[in-house]
Amino acid sequence: MKIGIIGAGQLGRMLALAGYPLALRFQFLDSSADSPGGQVGPIVPGAFDDAASLERLAADVDLVTYEFENVPVGALHAAAKLRTCLPPVEALRVSQDRLLEKELFTRLKIPTTPFRAVDTLADLCAAVADLGLPCVLKTRRLGYDGKGQHYLRKPADVELAWVALGGVPLILEGFVRFDREVSIIGARSTRGEVRAYPVVDNTHRDGILRVTLAPHRSAALQKAAERHLKRLLAHFDYAGVLTIEFFVQRGRLIANEMAPRVHNSGHWTIEGAATSQFENHLRAILGLPLGDTRPVGHAAMVNFIGRMPDRDKLLALPGVHFHDYGKAPRPGRKLGHCTIVAATAAERDRLLRRVSRLLPG
Ligand code: AMP
Repeated sequence: MKIGIIGAGQLGRMLALAGYPLALRFQFLDSSADSPGGQVGPIVPGAFDDAASLERLAADVDLVTYEFENVPVGALHAAAKLRTCLPPVEALRVSQDRLLEKELFTRLKIPTTPFRAVDTLADLCAAVADLGLPCVLKTRRLGYDGKGQHYLRKPADVELAWVALGGVPLILEGFVRFDREVSIIGARSTRGEVRAYPVVDNTHRDGILRVTLAPHRSAALQKAAERHLKRLLAHFDYAGVLTIEFFVQRGRLIANEMAPRVHNSGHWTIEGAATSQFENHLRAILGLPLGDTRPVGHAAMVNFIGRMPDRDKLLALPGVHFHDYGKAPRPGRKLGHCTIVAATAAERDRLLRRVSRLLPG
């Protein structure tokens, strides 16, 4: 069985690494031949928006999946005519547009940030008057890791935000004074089996995920997050792994966004859960029984951004697992991560402080 993965980034690499023990083979599509996936499988060179490249990949494999969210839906539909493509293209379409995503959350009664669609400066002024300051202006499409966002704190920021982002479809969101950010990852198989991982605690800086702590350990949040997750999975007749990111404000979940794919906040599951998100994604799209999602201890995942730390020093710490994606260093770029697994939360936190001291800068 050969699986085609659109995108050969670190997520694709980790999917392939999880699939080899299941006797799966992989082929990637990526415009860059030296992407991380290339270390573990062949890359078919091609652009994500080139329907012919996607069709070439589909013709060569048994099943197509994606690790990258910005694949044009039209091009993917062409590939999906040749081979089953999972997760469903419709989930990808919705996740590509913050407005569609928030409208769906609202329809499914999943609490989300207050929002307004913005296409003109007049729309923006009306939306700011409606939602009040502070608020956040975001591009509806192609935003990730805090890119394509502008915070509005005072009236003068309205014009500045419009100059910075105007000209493409936008969304204005009320600013949420959250207590913390969490996410939930779950898998649904083609046979309809569903499993959810524990809710995890995420810390972002400059819009980029830095640290995930797992599990978060709040029975009430877990129950609510699973309810929202199951609603989304059922809505799309989903197969694969799906992630929802939430703000937590006074004990309430407010959905920020969804990702129809394996997610950075689930990297801890490789060593910290009975079955990794990557293996469960593959099991789910192949209709295999899903694996146990329980944590095997207390885990922390630390992203390496811009510069890699000293591998040997980190490996000298007990319970630390190191992942180097083999990417060229660049400011703001995710180059690797490490996962700490410990028997108790206190021990995990102690190790996390030691890891933090070994990070460059
Ligand atoms: P996003 O690209 O939407 O995930 O945003 C990146 C990060 O910006 C989030 O993880 C939050 O830390 C912050 N952020 C985004 N939207 C809001 C909002 N409406 N209110 C407060 N913080 C936000």
